[in-house]
Amino acid sequence: MSTDIGLESAKAESPGGTGIQISGLSKTFRVGRRTVRALDAVDLHTDQGAFLSLLGPSGCGKSTVLRILAGLEQATAGTALIDGHTPAALVRRHELGIAFQDSALLPWRTVESNIKLPLQVAGLDPNPDQIADLIRLVGLEGFEKAKPAQLSGGMRQRVSIARALVVQPAVLLLDEPFGALDDMTRQRLNLELLRIWTEKPATTLMVTHGIAEAVFLSDVVAVMSPRPGSVLELVEIDLPRPRLPEMTRTPEFHRLHDYLSELLFGAGGVA
Ligand code: ADP
Ligand code: MG
Repeated sequence: MSTDIGLESAKAESPGGTGIQISGLSKTFRVGRRTVRALDAVDLHTDQGAFLSLLGPSGCGKSTVLRILAGLEQATAGTALIDGHTPAALVRRHELGIAFQDSALLPWRTVESNIKLPLQVAGLDPNPDQIADLIRLVGLEGFEKAKPAQLSGGMRQRVSIARALVVQPAVLLLDEPFGALDDMTRQRLNLELLRIWTEKPATTLMVTHGIAEAVFLSDVVAVMSPRPGSVLELVEIDLPRPRLPEMTRTPEFHRLHDYLSELLFGAGGVA
């Protein structure tokens, strides 16, 4: 995987190729009479099936990058392609799975029926075996008929991950999916996410505040500058796969963790 790339070499790599290909992406919001420059010439390039995490200070534009990739915002300048497709094309082809920090489940629908929703939106018939497999995959057996209000926060986030996976997406966009949960639940769900992603590696972009989880899960971590956000550095995570919890206690893991902390908060960083 050619992930050990500075910005210059990244720009030269396979334009229009596979994976995430973001070039010169800028975004300005109008707020009344003011304009807010959220993104300034963001460049990000990964391989198909790679797991990319975005780290950066609050307000630096991480969610904006994700929302542009999801087709929920239009860029002011620059291009964003995933696996060779525009966000709009991916949405049309139902190849996108998205999960946000707030599980955003429909309260009147059961677990099962929330998970089926993207299929129904796409006009596809849910296959009962597939839904049952998915519910097993995220560890919610026995809760098929429960309503969101009857679940814990961690369980609701699992439903939201299952819903993101139900269309068997080629591309997975996760915006702090476990950000609102306590540390232990979050670590457990990260392990499950890793297991699910390993079974079927989708081209993934995850926004996170957690340096440790970014190192543990990712092939590449992009560190962003404060607003207007741009990419300070792409850091390749060269830890072997399968990733195991024990790896978080190795010197290699700590070296990467320290390096990213330094970029975010240290002498080299401006956070
Ligand atoms: P992050 O996810 O890194 O915390 P965001 O991408 O949510 O940051 O926001 C980046 C900047 O853009 C922030 O200053 C935010 O206030 C602004 N912003 C985001 N969405 C909008 C919007 N719809 N309208 C106006 N400003 C916005
Ligand atoms: Mg955000």
